[in-house]
Amino acid sequence: MPFEPLVPGQVGIYNCGPTVYDWQHIGNLYAYLVADVVRRSLEYLGYRVTQVMNITDVGHIVGDLDEGDDKMEVAARRERKDPLALAQMYTERFFVDRRKLNILDPLFVVKATEHVPQMIALIERLIEKGHAYAAADGVYYDVATFPGYGTRLNAELPEERMAGARVEVNPNKRHPQDFALWRAAKPGDLQQWDSPWGRGNPGWHIECSAMSMEYLGETFDIHSGGQDHLFPHHECEIAQSEGATGKPFVRYWMHNRFLRVDSAKMAKSAGGFYQLGDIESWGFDPLAFRLLTLGTSYRKGVDFAREGLASAQARLDRWRSLVGEARQTTAAAAAGQEDAIRRRFVEAIADDFNTAKALAAAEDAVALLTSPEGADRARGLGLLFDMDRVFGLGLEAWTAQATALDDDVRALLDERAAARARGDYARSDQLRDELRRRGYLVKDTKEGQRWERIPPHKKEES
Ligand SMILES: [Zn+2]
Repeated sequence: MPFEPLVPGQVGIYNCGPTVYDWQHIGNLYAYLVADVVRRSLEYLGYRVTQVMNITDVGHIVGDLDEGDDKMEVAARRERKDPLALAQMYTERFFVDRRKLNILDPLFVVKATEHVPQMIALIERLIEKGHAYAAADGVYYDVATFPGYGTRLNAELPEERMAGARVEVNPNKRHPQDFALWRAAKPGDLQQWDSPWGRGNPGWHIECSAMSMEYLGETFDIHSGGQDHLFPHHECEIAQSEGATGKPFVRYWMHNRFLRVDSAKMAKSAGGFYQLGDIESWGFDPLAFRLLTLGTSYRKGVDFAREGLASAQARLDRWRSLVGEARQTTAAAAAGQEDAIRRRFVEAIADDFNTAKALAAAEDAVALLTSPEGADRARGLGLLFDMDRVFGLGLEAWTAQATALDDDVRALLDERAAARARGDYARSDQLRDELRRRGYLVKDTKEGQRWERIPPHKKEES
């Protein structure tokens, strides 16, 4: 399916953001890595991208449907914190993790609690159009008024549909599948607002309809989320937005499959999953996790295991080391538009963001780095730095940092070169050990000594 944005040259993207009541596990972070690669790819291809992500800090009920309590309320009581303070804390932690993974900040990061008036206005529109009705305990969407409700996105996922069928009968609803747009406040609710239907709080689904249309318009290009959002969340968004506007809501939906740990799916509600901090405590660089996720299509998801992470780390170390070494002798050449390797890379990302194929093109660029020809090495560097705008591995920044030497380190290297030149190998070995203590690994090659900065996760071993 060819991609045609609403406005030529521009793309609006909405990513369903986190409910900030706990740490995000790596399965959640994977969805934001996918969104980041999509945004970077479109920018690489020349589009002007407006990326919007919400922060759900109210209204996400435990059961994802209409039963149970608000996740924010439950966590606020658990941690004895004000819900907004709790949301602030977990939002900050989420952004720390994102930055470790080199995930770019969206242009707009929008909080549900700051958009309640827009949600109320949208609910009023739905009532006017006959798609919603006020009841004793809130306002509900009447699914019978929206033909095709629940079938627009996920015909191939019957298990999700079945989950939606297990709804407790609520006598206030016209139809058991009707979902809440607004819930009347219960005694003791920590978050509540005035509305035409009394004090209460918004449903989770209405947040994303209201905020996406506020920033991107009533019809926009790309809406993404994990496969767990297909139903009910995104089906409800379609019913709400198209019910209110009478226009198509989203041109392209993108859903990543789960990150699977030992083949079991990682869903947030089940609890007890790995966090980015676990990956770091095992001695891996967060960017090795990023590289691991680039190895398969978002449509297939990722199998997460220690061995896979270790080979991603080895690949990242190899790339960094080769790039760092090539950089000591060669400046990067600008990536030529007609370069055959670059062309394969562009074809790969333009083909539904096929990062696995793009990595294969990158390996051909890496192979150039060890060429005896300076021009090949310069081409390899230029290609890799260019591709890394999409991969987001920070290669150029890392090597720039790794090739900047303190004067005293430079002096030790010069002294060691001089010692070797006069055949004083005892002194040269001494200096090699001193350099290692300072975090530099020295190798002797035919063209003289080469050095690299030892990555932080390897310092203990060396
Ligand atoms: Zn959403």
